[in-house]
Amino acid sequence: MKRKLTIALVAHDRRKADMVDWALYNADMLSRHKLVCTGTTGGLIQKAMQERGIEVDITRMNSGPMGGDAEIAALVVRKQIDLAIFLIDDLNAQPHEADIQMLLRQCRVHNVPIACNRYSADLMITSALWDDEDYTPNEPSYTVFNR
Ligand code: PGA
Repeated sequence: MKRKLTIALVAHDRRKADMVDWALYNADMLSRHKLVCTGTTGGLIQKAMQERGIEVDITRMNSGPMGGDAEIAALVVRKQIDLAIFLIDDLNAQPHEADIQMLLRQCRVHNVPIACNRYSADLMITSALWDDEDYTPNEPSYTVFNR
C-alpha cells in the first residue's frame, strides 16, 4: 500500500492477546502507518514491537474506560482516522459501554471502516481501494422510504 493511513487500534482486555498477535502478524505493514490506540492496547503493542526491534509510530490515548474510546471517536468525527480495528469483548459487560457504542456509531456516521474481528481487519488492511484514486467512498444517505 502506498498511502500512509492513520489506524485506530482498540482491544478489550480479553481480546488484547488477539490484538497483539494480529499486530505482530501485520507488523511490517503497520510500521508504515500511524497508529492511534487506547492506552493499554497501545502499550502492549508498543512493547511487543520493541521486543522484536520493530519501530512503530504509536500515539496512546487514555485507557478505554477512562475515555480513550471517546478520544478516538472525537478523531473519527474530525476525519483524522482512516480505519479502526476494534476487538470487542462480546462475552462480558464493559463499564464504558456508552463510549464503545459512541465509537462504533461515529465510525458508521462518518463512514470510517471499522473491523471488529481479525478476519475483517485483514481484509480491510489489504484492500486495493486504499490506493485507488478513482474510488470515492459513498457517504451514508439516510434515504427515507415511504411504505
Ligand atoms: P485499553 O482500552 O486499551 O486502555 O484497555 C480499551 C478499551 O477497553 O476500550
